[in-house]
Amino acid sequence: MALWVDLVETEFLEPLRRAVAEHVEPQADAIDRDDVYPVAAIKALARHGYNSLTLPADQGGRGLGFAHCAALFEEASYASAAVGISLITILQAQTIIRLFAADSLKAAVLPEFGQGLITSYALTEANHGSDIRSLDTKAVRDGDRWILTGRKSFITSGSAAEAYVILAETPVGVSVFFVRQGMEGVSTEEGPNAATFGLRNGPHVDLVLDRVALPADHLIGVEGKGVRQAVTTLDYSRTMAAAISLGIARAAFDGALSFAAGRSAFDRKILDFQGIQWYFADMLAEIDAARLLTYAAARALDDHDDIARFGSEAKLLASRVATDTAARAVQICGAYGVMESARFGRYLRDAKAYEIAGGSSEILKNTIAKRLQQHAASGMAGSREARP
Ligand SMILES: Cc1cc2nc3c(=O)[nH]c(=O)nc-3n(C[C@H](O)[C@H](O)[C@H](O)COP(=O)(O)OP(=O)(O)OC[C@H]3O[C@@H](n4cnc5c(N)ncnc54)[C@H](O)[C@@H]3O)c2cc1C
Repeated sequence: MALWVDLVETEFLEPLRRAVAEHVEPQADAIDRDDVYPVAAIKALARHGYNSLTLPADQGGRGLGFAHCAALFEEASYASAAVGISLITILQAQTIIRLFAADSLKAAVLPEFGQGLITSYALTEANHGSDIRSLDTKAVRDGDRWILTGRKSFITSGSAAEAYVILAETPVGVSVFFVRQGMEGVSTEEGPNAATFGLRNGPHVDLVLDRVALPADHLIGVEGKGVRQAVTTLDYSRTMAAAISLGIARAAFDGALSFAAGRSAFDRKILDFQGIQWYFADMLAEIDAARLLTYAAARALDDHDDIARFGSEAKLLASRVATDTAARAVQICGAYGVMESARFGRYLRDAKAYEIAGGSSEILKNTIAKRLQQHAASGMAGSREARP
């Protein structure tokens, strides 16, 4: 019996695993070592329909649910979390357009994802990370156009992106815009903070906007409601980020198990020491729990059910489990775990970076706590009567 239980149909997973083995796995170490965007892998996955899994068929997608999407992120990231995060920035742009954009923009852009459109999701600025309620990037209305000026920082996939979703401040609050690479006034720069130690899918560039003129329908959703729209979109991508962490955790676990089963010390296999077995027992229980929570959060996305809570819980738990698993995998493998030739360093760096990117663990706990406060304020409907 397989160690990892399939949480969607095997008929979906088998071709997915073949595609990952062919297009992702052979490049995984080089993507991380050279810090390059995996263009060929992403375009190949798009040709197989994986970049537009949850879009309806009339928008060039496969019309599947978010559990299948989670399986894509988990399997791709088992080989390469850099490919996983490349797919995340595509999903983010796709989701915010699908949920909030004008019909004309949806009709123009959504079918392009099936053809491999690479996008970035640009919220952060040098002075605004977790707190995006006010921004230095500004957009003003000029007749029937919007004019954008500013600079976004830490932009994942920005070195290869063909289009960006951007948060900018307008006179009535923060708003969201769609911008294509190649428009006049759009450029990218590798600032001093472009190279990360984890989730390395090419430099995390600064995106420079110098009086970029946009058609009116490139405003996504409602002017001034950008933070709400961006955070709703993050509820989707946080669940998929959790699936990326699961892929990292499983890869680290499997690597360490294979090592422990083969390596001997004191006339025994490492795996026969009870102290080592207990590491594995803890890790397996934690990964299994994080998988169940993440796939439940993915199904909640299909049902639009409390997605902020479940997405936050899933990412909070799975990212922590991935970091802990990767660190214990290094410990189990001793000096071999520390070698650059082993993959455990990559797993550890990727796992740790995902405790920050896409919503830090502290911000996720705030989201969960806010939900608890709402529950308490509503008289704790459905709870047993509180007793002192
Ligand atoms: C690998 C990577 C990829 C990234 N990709 C992108 C991208 O594609 N697009 C994009 O827009 N951004 C991206 N970012 C930026 C990322 O979203 C921010 O780093 C993140 O939101 C945190 O912001 P910050 O780094 O400015 O930290 P800060 O907001 O300055 O926070 C610093 C510390 O304080 C904590 N903190 C902040 N506020 C609170 C609070 N209210 N309560 C408790 N603790 C708090 C944080 O959790 C953190 O530990 C990326 C970052 C990384 C590391």
